[in-house]
Amino acid sequence: MQKRYCLNCKDYLEGRRDQKYCSARCRSSYHRSINLQSSVQSTIHKILLKNHKVIEEIFITLPFTQMKVTKKRIDLSRMGFNFDYCTRIYRNKRGKWYRYIYDYSWMEFSDQKVVIYKSSDV
Ligand SMILES: [Zn+2]
Repeated sequence: MQKRYCLNCKDYLEGRRDQKYCSARCRSSYHRSINLQSSVQSTIHKILLKNHKVIEEIFITLPFTQMKVTKKRIDLSRMGFNFDYCTRIYRNKRGKWYRYIYDYSWMEFSDQKVVIYKSSDV
């Protein structure tokens, strides 16, 4: 028979076959950590969605063929854009950082300008 271990403390389990935890305490502790993890994930997810929505709302006012737009950093912040969150990060050969938010990316410049790109390669 395969050895089973407590999902929380990894102690060896000797009880019922469907036993997952060595104790009630381990069961509740495990569930608490899962809940905490999913609340952190949902907070991050909301920020990413908001960032995407802010950019999408900018591009929606532009001609469909326009793939690039320049904005002031402060204006993006006012719209609720959070510069600390992105889905991907990329550094080009010249050392400039591109941060992605799903199908868009942005690059920040020292003059507080932000260039946002609509990507075709996601
Ligand atoms: Zn345990």
